[in-house]
Amino acid sequence: MKPGFKSPFNPALNDLLPMVRPGFPVRLNLGIGGPTAAKVIASTDGATKTKGLNGPKKSALAAAPAGLGMAVQAARARMVHKLAAQGVSDARVLSAMSQVERHRFVDSALANQAYEDTSLPIGLGQTISKPSVVARMLELLQQSARGAGGKLGRVLEIGTGCGYQAAVLSHLATEVYSIERLRGLHDKARENLRDLRLSNVHLLFGDGMSGFPKGAPYAAIIAAAGGDAIPSAWIEQLAMGGRLVAPLQAANGSQALVVVDKTPEGIRQTLLEAVHFVPLKSGTS
Ligand code: SAH
Repeated sequence: MKPGFKSPFNPALNDLLPMVRPGFPVRLNLGIGGPTAAKVIASTDGATKTKGLNGPKKSALAAAPAGLGMAVQAARARMVHKLAAQGVSDARVLSAMSQVERHRFVDSALANQAYEDTSLPIGLGQTISKPSVVARMLELLQQSARGAGGKLGRVLEIGTGCGYQAAVLSHLATEVYSIERLRGLHDKARENLRDLRLSNVHLLFGDGMSGFPKGAPYAAIIAAAGGDAIPSAWIEQLAMGGRLVAPLQAANGSQALVVVDKTPEGIRQTLLEAVHFVPLKSGTS
């Protein structure tokens, strides 16, 4: 491993992470599943499929030699240092993201890009958000938990996708309810999360437009898909003092991040920076 690096951005990081020097781009040369080993092709239904893969399709890294495991850990640590350098300062969020192995949530053909700041296809036309966007949204949620000793209570996630963000949330919240409308992705997330045995993550199959009333009220709600309005069910299911973070589509089709706070004085909505999320859709499939 490279000589030690101390984070000038967040001293808490120095205790949290292995001593690594940040280097960019954070791309792993895994010797497996790279562009030479497999071709990623988009099928007509928008799903991502891999072709020409030799060996195990998933968890190739799990069976990798110990040295490779260290390289993956170092890449993840560099990703977290980079997030801190970009201004993410919440130690809980950085810690959670340093613990969850993002490469296990994407197809092995894409594993070498898992710690780059990029969104990646997860099948059925959907994408896993890029790490900086995940960190940004979780940090916004965390801000609402300051009064509660920093830990979030029950959280509802709309759009489980591959389950990555749900895994990160499991380190920040007491309970995570995550709902997905595509059966294929719901099953995939279940498989991805099985070995992690996160007892506080509850995966649900259904249309998240109606939220999940049984788990309400939620201290926080986070959506990974953007519609042209925030469904009223989400506001209803948000606890008093709770916060919702979601992408919201404007009339011209552009999206921005929106923060909704439920306060005794009423609903406060704040529009933030532009983002690019997959669309929020009704029904299940
Ligand atoms: N957080 C996810 C990101 C998944 S992308 C991850 O870490 O992988 C957004 C997901 O939202 C997609 O899987 C999409 O199918 C899902 N989605 C869109 N509309 C939805 C709805 N109404 N209810 C539940 N999930 C929805």
